[in-house]
Amino acid sequence: MIAEAAGLTASRVARGSDAASRRHAFVVVGRGPMGAAAVRHLATAGEDVVVVGPEEPEDWSQHEGAFASHYDEGRQFELASSEEVLVRLAKDSVRGFQEVEKATGISFFRRHPNLRVGPAGFSDDHYYNWDGIDAVGRELGVETVHLDDQGLSDEFPQFRFESGSRGLVEPNGGVINPRRMVKAQLRAAEANGATVIRDEVVALNRRSGDIEVVLKNGKAISADQVLIATGAFTNAAKLLERRLAMYLYGVTAVLVEVRGESRPELPTVTCRFGSEEKSPVCFAMPPLQYPDGRWYIKGATASSVDSPIAGDSGIGPWFRGKGVEEDPKLVVGMLRKLLPGFEPRKAHALPCMVSYTPTGNPYIERIDDRVGIAVGGNAWGVMTSDEIGRMAAEMMRDVPWSGPLSAELFKARFA
Ligand SMILES: Cc1cc2nc3c(=O)[nH]c(=O)nc-3n(C[C@H](O)[C@H](O)[C@H](O)COP(=O)(O)OP(=O)(O)OC[C@H]3O[C@@H](n4cnc5c(N)ncnc54)[C@H](O)[C@@H]3O)c2cc1C
Repeated sequence: MIAEAAGLTASRVARGSDAASRRHAFVVVGRGPMGAAAVRHLATAGEDVVVVGPEEPEDWSQHEGAFASHYDEGRQFELASSEEVLVRLAKDSVRGFQEVEKATGISFFRRHPNLRVGPAGFSDDHYYNWDGIDAVGRELGVETVHLDDQGLSDEFPQFRFESGSRGLVEPNGGVINPRRMVKAQLRAAEANGATVIRDEVVALNRRSGDIEVVLKNGKAISADQVLIATGAFTNAAKLLERRLAMYLYGVTAVLVEVRGESRPELPTVTCRFGSEEKSPVCFAMPPLQYPDGRWYIKGATASSVDSPIAGDSGIGPWFRGKGVEEDPKLVVGMLRKLLPGFEPRKAHALPCMVSYTPTGNPYIERIDDRVGIAVGGNAWGVMTSDEIGRMAAEMMRDVPWSGPLSAELFKARFA
């Protein structure tokens, strides 16, 4: 009682650690792209904030705790889309990316072209909703160039596309290094007074005057407000009183090694082959250097996005595993077909996970007096993360919602 009146919590009395030694205005749970951006925006607004999240595991195959969907060297930044919410969030994130790069000296975002190719006349899914892409592009000022067969072979002679293809180039797309981005966001947050705790949260105890945030290491933190940004683990972590409607899919990204000295110049490519019935959409990023020092083209096919995760207990095994066994071969085959001059070296899988929401938008909502959420990347949670973090931070600070995107768009659905 006396400790509470003095702004101290039972945890401090019991354990005396620094972060647990007083009550904090905000605790952010999860330090992925969304959580890291939110904590930076809270800290730069002068708020007292702690963020809790684990380090990337050293040995994925043995790790029993939480994983993240951003443990990679490359994510696409793409505004050529018919989804207005995505385009606005991504466009508005660029200012934040640049601020953070400048403040920390850590570069993680660069402009790089995107190329989308499909059979002319095909417009059956959101990748190829050409009219929708043009309409949003006109409204929001996204530069794109349409190409026919001739234009494709003139502009991209290194590729072999099927005849009867249609292409769309976005010259001002980009590539983001998500690991470096999270590091930079956290560094900028710390420079503004935030505290980073490398641990997992195992429980939130809602008490009369605060929330007790219990860590895996046994310590606890007292918070006025908690923002949950735990990605695919949000339901599994059981920190919310109700389950969110979220659909998790395992993705088998494939890293195909390229010789560093003769790596091909590539835009980020999204491609569908017209001659193949039910042909999957294929993706490939330009060669990027990975922590092992080697260069890889990261590829995937839409079939590799087709691994629904059944139940909370399926998440850990997916990350600990090797993805869909046949995908490395499929992706190498796709690259050989697209890039006849390219000689792929070894390929291996990098399991990852996407969290879809039924609304198609992230959930950014205060779900009770003290708890808010920022989750649901819908496969575009890196390029939009700074703006999602900014909006979540303002929501937690009770700043009135503003801007062209209404709060309604980001309301959570429950399972
Ligand atoms: C193969 C692949 C390709 C993709 N390509 C793109 C792309 O090109 N462009 C793009 O924008 N997006 C892309 N995405 C999606 C993007 O990576 C995700 O949307 C993004 O990582 C989501 O960010 P997040 O912060 O919500 O979740 P995460 O990145 O998963 O971060 C959540 C964090 O919460 C932590 N956490 C979980 N539970 C707890 C707990 N109990 N206590 C504390 N911390 C916890 C985790 O450890 C993790 O660090 C891709 C995803 C995949 C799988």
